[in-house]
Amino acid sequence: MSVALICVDLQNDFYEDGALPVPGASKINPPINKLLKKDDFKTIVASQDWHPKKHASFASNHNKEPFTPYKGDLEGLGELLWPDHCIQGTEGADFHQDIDTDNFDLIIRKGQDPEVDSYSAFRDNDGTDLGLAAYLKGLDIKKIVLVGLALDVCVFYTALDGIKAGFNVELILEASKGVNAEENDVENAIAKMKEEAVKVKERYI
Ligand SMILES: [Zn+2]
Repeated sequence: MSVALICVDLQNDFYEDGALPVPGASKINPPINKLLKKDDFKTIVASQDWHPKKHASFASNHNKEPFTPYKGDLEGLGELLWPDHCIQGTEGADFHQDIDTDNFDLIIRKGQDPEVDSYSAFRDNDGTDLGLAAYLKGLDIKKIVLVGLALDVCVFYTALDGIKAGFNVELILEASKGVNAEENDVENAIAKMKEEAVKVKERYI
């Protein structure tokens, strides 16, 4: 069976010193680098959150505090407003220096529309297709292995969209960490993914 590895948002701003830090993020680097060296994957895809400076998901652009629930039109945004993060071309948007990026075959940049956020590597929150499903299907990929940040946001939505697109989806827990903006977000995300037939494994092997 042809398998793809998808690395979600391994960017400085989501690591411990970044603008939107995920607790324990750097712990996922060694297991991810191990996966990146394996021959098991027909393709390796990395997503990159890639926002214009005035992105509508930033609390600063609404004169609000980060992590304030967003009560407006949820079509294009998520349920929370975030600190400014992953601004195009900044160091915060770069891949973490400890990640071995040489084996990335494709980089999907998401969240580029100033009015629309993108939690999934497959599509923007308003449904705009980012081309990932067609790329994977073109390579006859049947299964995707998911790692990265953040487990309860972008990894979660990528997993569910992967299932919707018809792939077998496997999430590797030792290679993914969550924000937990609300208590139990990670726990709830894992339960929901299992419900949707995502295979949740502690480690790859
Ligand atoms: Zn973002």
